[in-house]
Amino acid sequence: MDFTHSQLRILEMIKNKKRISRKKIAEELRLTPAAITKSINPLLKLGVVLEDSEGESTGGRKPIELILNREWLGAVLGISLTPTALIISVGDISGNIYKSKSYEILDSDDLVKFLKKIIREELLAEQKIKVISLVLTGLINSDNGVLIFSPHYNWKKVNIKELLGKEFEIPILIENDVRAMALSERYFNTSKESNNFVVLNVSEGIGSSIFVGEDLLAGYGFMSGEIGHVVMDRSSLRKCSCGKRGCLEAEASNKAIINKIFSMIKLNNYSSLKERLKQNGEININDIVEAVNKRDFLSTKVATEAIVIIAHSIDMIISILNPEKIILFGELFNEKYLLNTLKLELQKVTLEEQKYELVVSKLLEEIHIYNPLAVVIHNIFRKNIWRR
Ligand SMILES: [Zn+2]
Repeated sequence: MDFTHSQLRILEMIKNKKRISRKKIAEELRLTPAAITKSINPLLKLGVVLEDSEGESTGGRKPIELILNREWLGAVLGISLTPTALIISVGDISGNIYKSKSYEILDSDDLVKFLKKIIREELLAEQKIKVISLVLTGLINSDNGVLIFSPHYNWKKVNIKELLGKEFEIPILIENDVRAMALSERYFNTSKESNNFVVLNVSEGIGSSIFVGEDLLAGYGFMSGEIGHVVMDRSSLRKCSCGKRGCLEAEASNKAIINKIFSMIKLNNYSSLKERLKQNGEININDIVEAVNKRDFLSTKVATEAIVIIAHSIDMIISILNPEKIILFGELFNEKYLLNTLKLELQKVTLEEQKYELVVSKLLEEIHIYNPLAVVIHNIFRKNIWRR
């Protein structure tokens, strides 16, 4: 079923407000009552929306309001595949989460087999699931469901939609994790009102995504936002996962920072993390952030150098795209000193006229639950894929 543009805007408004009267919708969308009736009647007939008079009254007769029919829209099976874990959730597009579960992924696991098994189990357990939404790392063509390249799972040109579609006869959506983060921000978090922002994710790798107008910017080959592989230091010998040297990701990602500190400690440089390394055999980004917080010299030096490089990459984003906001994801940005350093470095390299807001995302681990839901919302309301 294809909805008209007005119908999609009305549905999105009902979703956002949870319940709303026809009069309010007409006011907000500046449509005539006749146009509203023309759009809403088919939605009522189909059962997508329901009339409800149980809302709060401001005195007198309770107003009839419109609500989304959750039964009609059904539930979403969300799957977030990170390099180390598979996070499953069942929820609805209003953001209600009915259940979530996390599985560790081992190198030896056959991922496709594992995915199919989990989906089979969840579809059996919850009959209301009407769409599967899969979010994962790598280059993804979300239009045809092909994973172009993902070094994390060693996949190249895998048609995931076809692979899963053969067995499961419900719509399957696939999206890249950093793009999905922009959608989570847009529909659940800080950027509900914004149509012009960039997400920068600094984790094991570095990636960005661009939301402009009413959609994500895909680029010609679904490769826009791949800022992690811009060479920031041409004289660097540090090899990146892409094969080049001196990429932003090779110089300033969590993995890069961990590796630098690790080798400096091995070279006998003093750090409070030396003990931790001895005990655990490894250090992670949270150890480093904690050490920076306590002003461990080595950790602070290496993390600050990374922050300066990140500031230069944000300067490029600001200059090219002129976004309203840059939304940051990553452990580094939750450390006050590092965040302040980033702001100061940016001030040094940007013009006063370049107005931008730097925001640290409030979505932490729950991002893996919201991402697949946000992808579904985007596809229903902006891309109109909801067909049955
Ligand atoms: Zn690279």
